[in-house]
Amino acid sequence: MKFLKNLLFIILSTSFAQTIHSMEQPPIGNTPLHWAIHDGDIYAVTAILERGDNVNAKLIFCNYTPLHIASQNGLTKIAKILIKNNANINAKSSTDATPLDLASQNGHANVATILLTCKANVDATKTNRWTPLHIASQNGHTKIVNILLNYKANVNARSMNNYTSLHIASQSGHDAEIVDLLLKHHADPCATNNDGQTPDILAKRKGHIAIYKFLQGNEKFPQGKRYLSLYNKFKPNKCAICQELFIPKQLIAVIECGHSFHDKCIKKCSQASTRCPLCRQETNTEDSKLLIHYIKTKKQKNTKPVKPVEKKQKTEDD
Ligand SMILES: [Zn+2]
Ligand SMILES: [Zn+2]
Repeated sequence: MKFLKNLLFIILSTSFAQTIHSMEQPPIGNTPLHWAIHDGDIYAVTAILERGDNVNAKLIFCNYTPLHIASQNGLTKIAKILIKNNANINAKSSTDATPLDLASQNGHANVATILLTCKANVDATKTNRWTPLHIASQNGHTKIVNILLNYKANVNARSMNNYTSLHIASQSGHDAEIVDLLLKHHADPCATNNDGQTPDILAKRKGHIAIYKFLQGNEKFPQGKRYLSLYNKFKPNKCAICQELFIPKQLIAVIECGHSFHDKCIKKCSQASTRCPLCRQETNTEDSKLLIHYIKTKKQKNTKPVKPVEKKQKTEDD
């Protein structure tokens, strides 16, 4: 039954291709190859390519090539066949999206890896100047962000409105792990967009508080640097209020004098006084509130690190 269906498909599509050929028009539109890929039919894809159909035929309006469709749908085997048959790795759609953009958007890590192995442009930009890294960061695909960075994606590439991938990841708030990855690959936490906003401001505005605190605690952040050196002056291992030990890689609150506390402990104290509960130093105030900064405690030996994850999102993959 399957064989008969495929045979009928080949006969019909052959006559369709011949009609196009006889009209001497470029091979655009819903070609048999696009149909076969939509169906995920490897047998039909192979047969159509063997008879010599154009591997880079484009769909009307969107200009998607067969490789765009395979990348969008995470069809790893078909993507390999198309590439072997000289598919254009960096083909552009009507909006300048490449197959790597579509794999990055839809979380297909295996297809992204194949495209990059075959020299896909890791920093290909569209009219809005977004790169695949912007797209993967926007959609919360941690695995793809990691792959793109390992293939030397420009971590500080700017969109048309001067957004870096760190801006996008911070305001999307999918996964603090992406923010962590970008920072490890030297993303600039102080980069400003056209509205003068840094990534931490965008995270705060969207209510992603864990990401906001995490960004402000980064040592490259000007304030973070100052508070980190204050923290290092005392190197406390426990909260001076509740006397409980800090957990490794925990976000802790550091105040102007350099003393550190649990967030909830210092917030309770700050309601009563703006003096440090330990040294009684009057702290600088902002709207009568303690200026609190957050840093991450150091990882210690023989302890399991706690990942700074605000909200773990499942990443769909091939
Ligand atoms: Zn405490
Ligand atoms: Zn103090």
